[in-house]
Amino acid sequence: MWFRHDLRVTDNPALNAAMAKGHTRAVYFWCQKQWQDHNLSPARLKLTQLALIGLNESLAKLGVELEIVLIDSFLQVPGALNDCLTRHRIANVYVNAEYALDERRRDREVKALCRSIDVAWHPYHGSMMQMPGTLKTGEGNPYKVFTPFKRAWYRAWQDTSRQVLPVPKTQGEIASLPVPLPLPLLETEVPLDAALFPLDEQSALSRLSEFSNEKLHAYGDSRDYPASAGTSRLSAALTVGLISPLQCFQAAVNLSDGDLSRNPGAEVWVSELIWREFYLNVIYCWPEVCKGQAFRKDMDKVAWRYNEEEFASWCEGTTGFPIVDAAMRQLNETGWMHNRLRMVTAMFLSKYLLIDWRWGEQYFMSHLIDGHFAANNGGWQWSASTGTDAAPYFRLLSPTRQAERFDSDAVFMRRFLPELESLSAKQILKPGSPELLASGYPAPMIDLKVAREACLSAFKAVRG
Ligand code: FAD
Repeated sequence: MWFRHDLRVTDNPALNAAMAKGHTRAVYFWCQKQWQDHNLSPARLKLTQLALIGLNESLAKLGVELEIVLIDSFLQVPGALNDCLTRHRIANVYVNAEYALDERRRDREVKALCRSIDVAWHPYHGSMMQMPGTLKTGEGNPYKVFTPFKRAWYRAWQDTSRQVLPVPKTQGEIASLPVPLPLPLLETEVPLDAALFPLDEQSALSRLSEFSNEKLHAYGDSRDYPASAGTSRLSAALTVGLISPLQCFQAAVNLSDGDLSRNPGAEVWVSELIWREFYLNVIYCWPEVCKGQAFRKDMDKVAWRYNEEEFASWCEGTTGFPIVDAAMRQLNETGWMHNRLRMVTAMFLSKYLLIDWRWGEQYFMSHLIDGHFAANNGGWQWSASTGTDAAPYFRLLSPTRQAERFDSDAVFMRRFLPELESLSAKQILKPGSPELLASGYPAPMIDLKVAREACLSAFKAVRG
């Protein structure tokens, strides 16, 4: 069993199939340079290390030995796997598929290797509920628009649904618990706070049950307010595979007595899980988005700006717009940002500053603990109006209006901008207010109206 982003023993189709077939060993390839090339954040890498430590213990209980092999890049995977197969005389390789371009290239190489040495290759789909590329429009094309995709997803679900898989039966004792990590735990600037993110499989399952029992019913109303903990914070666990999307979906369905339409909170939450599937489907069906290209070719002609000073203000959270700055500081200090604020900050960079969305995409990826190529690329291309089913180019989320609507008491902004502690919500909600400036907080770096006009002209210019 070759583990990748499926670091769990429950609901792991590839692990279940391997153990049903016969005696199983596990391997994980730690590809340090590849992860750096993919801009994975130190927080995400450390979470992966912690997940591997937990996985090692869970696998030991099942009698499965885990070997972690240190290599630089995917190019070395076939050689390293071949070595492992030969040493242990292995005849079958089980994996849960991955869908981004480099991962698919790597798997093609490995599959060819397996064929050449008479080893069977068994791919499963444990990281998605439905295989990408299978849902098609009436014309036989992949979906570019979310709502019909979601409808087709539900229709297909009636026919193909599978059940959450239990932990496989143990195959006996292992001699001793192997030391799992052949490398020291990484240092990270952001603390990996178990109260914020589950750091192992058991905590991810507990978080899911706590969230579904206590918060799911109200999710539709609370999910947009960054000051309240109204969302699951399961994204990092889903990204490294401490939990499966099916386990999440099933929890929502169970809580709704089998009928999601009876539980509006659960229905909205499941929609978000389907957005995750949608974006995975996009990178699978249009792999060019994995090469830094805009989904909409015309949008690659927008005259993006590359102003490093302005970009630095955005990264550091010194734009002079408290909601944007608090959000960026949340990202920098915790490795996570609330979904509404991801949209607000992404639009601020790509629309109001007209800075190339790829700079923001990369910054997010290199700081997020839940950095997930498909969701991040999809979110950025949605915000910058360059993607599938993206926001229309003339839609700009105004940071002042968003702050008034979703943090009207300035609770969130004060939490991440403690220098504004003594100011009233009214003063904080008005970027450039005399009280804000007197407190030493920066003046707004742009005039929103002027920036909006510049953005609309840049987009109109490429739309003809
Ligand atoms: P919940 O609200 O509890 O949602 C449950 C799960 O559904 C999430 O954990 C996530 O797996 C999935 N989900 C929710 N919203 C979305 C969405 N819009 N698109 C795809 N999947 C979604 N999500 C990531 O997991 N990794 C990223 O790198 C990432 N980058 C983003 C960048 C931008 C610019 C934007 C606008 C969104 C991005 N998202 C990303 C989506 C979303 O913001 C996060 O999934 C969400 O904030 C995670 O918090 P949660 O686990 O509490 O989510």
